Amino acid sequence: MQRANEPSFRQSVDMMFNRAANLMELPPGLKEKIRVCNATYTVRFGVRLRGELHTFTGYRSVHSEHMEPVKGGIRYATSVNQDEVEALAALMTFKCALVETPFGGSKGGLCIDPREWEPHELEMITRRFAYELIKRDLINPAQNVPAPDMGTGEREMAWIADQFRRMNTTDINSAACVTGKPTHAGGIQGRTEATGRGVQYALQEFFRHDEDVKEARMDGTLDGKRIIVQGLGNVGYHAAKFLSEEDGALITGVIERDGAVVNEKGLNIELLKLHITETGGVRGFEGGTFVDVGAEVLEYPCDILIPAAMEGVINLSNAERIQAKMIIEAANGPVTAGADEILRGNGCIIIPDMYANAGGVTVSYFEWVKNLSHIRFGRMQRRQEEARHLLIVDELERLSKQRDVPWTLSDDFKKKYLRGAGELELVRSGLDDTMRGAYQAMREVWRERQDVADLRVAAYLVSIGRVALSYQSKGL
Ligand code: NAD
Repeated sequence: MQRANEPSFRQSVDMMFNRAANLMELPPGLKEKIRVCNATYTVRFGVRLRGELHTFTGYRSVHSEHMEPVKGGIRYATSVNQDEVEALAALMTFKCALVETPFGGSKGGLCIDPREWEPHELEMITRRFAYELIKRDLINPAQNVPAPDMGTGEREMAWIADQFRRMNTTDINSAACVTGKPTHAGGIQGRTEATGRGVQYALQEFFRHDEDVKEARMDGTLDGKRIIVQGLGNVGYHAAKFLSEEDGALITGVIERDGAVVNEKGLNIELLKLHITETGGVRGFEGGTFVDVGAEVLEYPCDILIPAAMEGVINLSNAERIQAKMIIEAANGPVTAGADEILRGNGCIIIPDMYANAGGVTVSYFEWVKNLSHIRFGRMQRRQEEARHLLIVDELERLSKQRDVPWTLSDDFKKKYLRGAGELELVRSGLDDTMRGAYQAMREVWRERQDVADLRVAAYLVSIGRVALSYQSKGL
């Protein structure tokens, strides 16, 4: 979405990149090489549906191949265009570098409103799009691995995986050609929730650093913090659910396509999601007050604003009126370059997209590794781990009986301690570790360099530095 007086999404990403790259000593030409998008493939294909031939336009952009495969979601939306796909592919490069997943950056999109088509029609369209990309190796376990994004989910990823398998019948690694698949089709537990879970872990890590919390004009923990979320889709729903149910935060506003609902006492996210599923929007939800012009709620006072819908929603037209103390960019590119400057000037702390929503690609990485190793995480160790824990518990209880006042371990403790980690626990542990580590890498630059005033520049400095090292080791 481009507004008057504002750069396009891709230009906005370039401007943010330049702000950081200008602070770096890079060999001549390398900065430009890292910034530009390597290639974008546009495909127009026809599918016969409802008695007519319909032509669809799709894209797959490869931003950087310093590591392969390249990785990035496939988006279904009417707003999809080359500029957007290239901006998103660039963000993927820097995101993967920041969270140390061994991928280059890519992104795809299909210009379509998925709500206009029946599931069997969407399947035909998806398979045809996948066919076009697969035959050019733009979907391939070793070269280019898509994932879900706006308008797509595990159903589409399962169709893509199956299409690849049909076209590569002897490829033993075919399941690794796409991530975000359902668990019965080679997916991994915890992938659907991963991006929202990552937003939660990012905020938890932020609140572990008192100095950072103070800079955001807050104190304490996430408990009781007032949060407004835009977009209750995959990312927004999971983030809102976990933050309210597990961290005690209050979701005081949810903005959707048809308006917003607000409630200072906190909205019940499960009930609201159910209402959206049943009615198609937030209007009529009894647990809050309906606001007709949803976007206005972005400007309501709150501690944390989570834009989790789409790019460009905080821009020159509303940035000055945003009252949130901090923004965590769950969506890609929700804050334009111009708005970013205004918000920084007003003391708003922004946790940048390339970090905030990296939970998705992190767990996609785990899924890809699982597919290549052909074994579920935890399958070999789980029972062995339990047996060793049981040994300790039995021994402690035996020793306790030798004392005058014998003691026992509580049943609750034993239940938790004796459980070996299954796939979901391992995925969550790996994700948490990744989100903590990446925050600390960004934070170190933010805190230690006088010329770095915000987390976005810090994130770019870390990731550009890593991409540059990778290019240099290839002799570029
Ligand atoms: P989704 O399609 O599941 O959900 C998007 C939600 O936003 C929907 O509920 C939709 O109704 C709502 N929405 C759309 N336009 C809106 C508007 N103008 N105002 C208010 N609400 C609106 O998509 P998603 O997968 O949750 O992706 C959301 C954002 O997160 C995108 O920017 C995407 O690139 C980013 N992201 C997604 C993932 C992932 O794993 N799915 C990973 C990283 C980043």
